[in-house]
Amino acid sequence: MKALLQSSPFDSDGGNLIGRDPRHVTAEEWEASGLPLLIGMRAIRAKCLDCCSGSAAEVRKCTSVRCPLWPLRMGAQPKGMAAARQNHGAKQATDLEAER
Ligand code: SF4
Repeated sequence: MKALLQSSPFDSDGGNLIGRDPRHVTAEEWEASGLPLLIGMRAIRAKCLDCCSGSAAEVRKCTSVRCPLWPLRMGAQPKGMAAARQNHGAKQATDLEAER
């Protein structure tokens, strides 16, 4: 786990440890970290469970609708949200065409 940290190169941090840029962590370092290596929806779901002390029931009842993870907290992209995003994208494209 320590391999994922580094001494801060920023003076304002006074040499304290900070997280490394994950884009530069090697496969070997990831494997040695012992972390679950979750991505996407699984990572979001795990974060929400962590936020709610492991209680799936509390994740389901979360009222923090302004949290960016809220729509995805059940570990799946809601169909209505996907459709709304597509409509929004189509509207943006139409608006851009109208501006030309
Ligand atoms: S959506 Fe709710 S449970 Fe998930 S991280 Fe945000 S506040 Fe926590």
